[in-house]
Amino acid sequence: MPDLFIAGEWTAALDGRLREIRCPADGTLVGAVDEAGPEDASAAIAAARDAFDRGPWPRTPAAERGALLLRVAALLERDKAALARAESLDTGKRLVESEYDLDDIAACFRYFGALTASGGGGRIVDTGGAGTDSRVVYEPVGVCGLITPWNYPLLQAAWKVAPALGAGNAFVLKPSELTPHTAIGLIRLLAEAGLPDGVANLVLGAGPEAGVPLASDPRVDMVSFTGGLVTGRRVMAAAAATVKKVALELGGKNPNIVFADADFDTAVDYALTAVFLHSGQVCSAGARLLVQDELHDRFVDAVVAGARRIRLGGPFDPAARTGPLISAAHRDRVEAYVAAGLAEGAVLRCGGTRPADPALRDGFYYPPTVLDECGPGMSVVRDESFGPVLTVERFRTEDEAVALANDTVYGLAGAVWTQDGERAHRVAARLRAGTVWINDFHPYVPQAEWGGMKQSGFGRELGPSGLAEYQEAKHIWRNLAPRPQGWFS
Ligand code: NDP
Repeated sequence: MPDLFIAGEWTAALDGRLREIRCPADGTLVGAVDEAGPEDASAAIAAARDAFDRGPWPRTPAAERGALLLRVAALLERDKAALARAESLDTGKRLVESEYDLDDIAACFRYFGALTASGGGGRIVDTGGAGTDSRVVYEPVGVCGLITPWNYPLLQAAWKVAPALGAGNAFVLKPSELTPHTAIGLIRLLAEAGLPDGVANLVLGAGPEAGVPLASDPRVDMVSFTGGLVTGRRVMAAAAATVKKVALELGGKNPNIVFADADFDTAVDYALTAVFLHSGQVCSAGARLLVQDELHDRFVDAVVAGARRIRLGGPFDPAARTGPLISAAHRDRVEAYVAAGLAEGAVLRCGGTRPADPALRDGFYYPPTVLDECGPGMSVVRDESFGPVLTVERFRTEDEAVALANDTVYGLAGAVWTQDGERAHRVAARLRAGTVWINDFHPYVPQAEWGGMKQSGFGRELGPSGLAEYQEAKHIWRNLAPRPQGWFS
């Protein structure tokens, strides 16, 4: 069956191109999928436009739209095993992690299903005078271009697709060229749940060909993008020509601040998962460890010992604790990043060279790496590696910790570890980041907003704002007893 989904039909790419998808853990062929070009993207946009302008979905009662999202959640639960396996084969991540992702994805659809079904209706405005009726209604934005990355392919798609549909939009989804299979699976489930033709469209292919039209075509009303900072700037620039609504979820260089009074063992344990989960390919990875001076040596020794114990392996290796990087090109980038750090004076405490284990030879593995004695001017502290690399900086005072933490163009997430509750809240309040964890790292729930400050982007996913992102507020004013005003008479 072909892999592009346009106007309710599975269709091949117009020029017949296919792309091979290989598992980054060992290079095995996962499949070959249709590779869309600009014409395919244009056809998908036309289908979404038609479905939005003439189809039933935007006018379907919110309760019915919500019910459809709840059916999708149930279908995701039914197909969890197959989808998790597909996600692991495309990304190389451990199967158990893909299974956790699938639970979160179903929860996302359930949340937006319930929110959609219970919401809508708008609000009455008190105009203070008799004879008028004023209300604000929330309408869908229109045709949405949804562009997503490879690290959490289906999760990132779900965070956009569920609220976009809940609000009544039509969309064209373009997942990363490297990880298409679970997006195909999701679109099948949307069709099975009864979504009208043309509302959901899928193009697979490279960003410059299949993605650019979603940001630039005048028939698209909104582009919601998750990916890297450089691509995000391009998307925003392309969207400017037609003044599209834009939502950007970009990268992060997230501080993990550990004060000397933190619970030592717990903070060490979380410092490891903060940065090495999914081999660091997490936008909210705690890649900058800031440790209070008096704790530094003991804490970093323990983190290094823990990092050395992390076993690498493929998705179905039960002993593995983390997997490969997504591609050879990405591993090259991470290697160059570490080399730059060492040239700038960072001290390599562990990792830093490809694993010698012959069992890992065919995958894009890179070991957990700790760079100590880093400083705020270094490129490794400023740039996102999106790999398993931790930089360590020291601080003496709370003010210094906050200053170092905020000394970044990014503002996605951060954490503070201390047993002093007042200090925890003071620091949390001063961090310029969209998410702050106190004595924790990584958890999120669909009920709470997710997104960045500064150059980590703007707009919010999840939570009530995640639905509002895909809505336009419209004020409807009615004069109940119109009479001439006489202003110019
Ligand atoms: P990219 O920015 O390279 O790609 C993201 C998506 O954009 C892909 O689908 C890509 O297509 C597409 N794309 C590439 N160029 C264009 C273009 N000119 N116009 C439109 N679309 C384009 O990011 P990665 O896939 O490498 O993902 C890693 C990045 O994503 C990291 O920087 C990370 O921090 C960020 N990220 C942020 C998250 C957040 O919530 N803030 C969550 C997850 C990741 P293709 O790859 O197919 O060419």
